[in-house]
This record gives sequence, structure tokens and C-alpha cells, in this order.
Amino acid sequence: MKIEKDCVVRFHYTVGEVGQPATESSQGAEPLAIMIGHGNIIPGLENALHGREAGETFAVDVPAAEAYGERRDGLTQRIAKKHFGDQRLLAGMQVVLQTEYGPRAVTIEKVGMSVVDVDLNHPMAGKSLHFDIEVVEVRAASPEELEHGHVHGDGGHHH
Ligand code: ZN
Repeated sequence: MKIEKDCVVRFHYTVGEVGQPATESSQGAEPLAIMIGHGNIIPGLENALHGREAGETFAVDVPAAEAYGERRDGLTQRIAKKHFGDQRLLAGMQVVLQTEYGPRAVTIEKVGMSVVDVDLNHPMAGKSLHFDIEVVEVRAASPEELEHGHVHGDGGHHH
């Protein structure tokens, strides 16, 4: 079947900034499992998956606006150090903070005695991304998956 809304897709990806070496890949690990049309992945990649079938490989460049958005100024926030746990903090480091909206990747700007300044822009914000994709599996979502808005089983949620 071809990929369309409400499909479950399992795929391998390799990603990096356009024109730069790849920085992340699922090759050698479990493929990523997502449901199409439920905001599970960035819009540009989801659009590029539409109409593909299992076994296909393709490359796509996704502009920043369809990836993690443009960088915004003024998104620095000062946070009490205790919220970072025991990890050693260095400027430029990317960490994941638990926020009321769920986990969020941020970049450390400055580490003080008791507070830390972080840049809330997504680390990939403002970057156009190059993806190499290998579609592993395409199937219809189960009614339960549709209700939850995410994939269950291999590569998805277990609960
Ligand atoms: Zn669920």
C-alpha cells in the first residue's frame, strides 16, 4: 500500500544539515515508527513520505520552516540549576528539559552558580535538513492507534 493519512510507517532515516555530514541515523538500530497525519514528525518529512511504498529509498531536503522552524531571538530563559539534575553542564551543550509541555531540547548558553541560561530554540531551528529515508513497512493503523494518535508495538509506544 502507498503511504497516506492514518498509515503507520516504519522507516530508517539519516539526517544532517543540508551540505553538512549527517549527524543522526537510525541505521543499525530500530526503524522509527510514526503515524501519518498526527503530527508525529516534522511536516516536511511527512509530506515527502506521502505516496511512497515499503522498500523505497529516497532523499529529501526540508527547509527550516517545514522542519523545526526558524530561529527566534529572545528565547533565552534563566532556569534554576536544580532542574538539570546531576549532569555536568557546559555552554553549547544540548540537554532535554522536562517542561509542562513535555520534554524539550534546549541549548545551554551560560552556567552560573545556581542558575543556567538556556536557549529555548530547538537545536535544529533555522536549519534546512537533508534526509535519506528507507521505508521499511507501511500498514493501516489500528482503531486503538488512531484513537491515541501514535503507533503501538515495534518502534512505537508500549503501554
Ligand atoms: Zn497509545
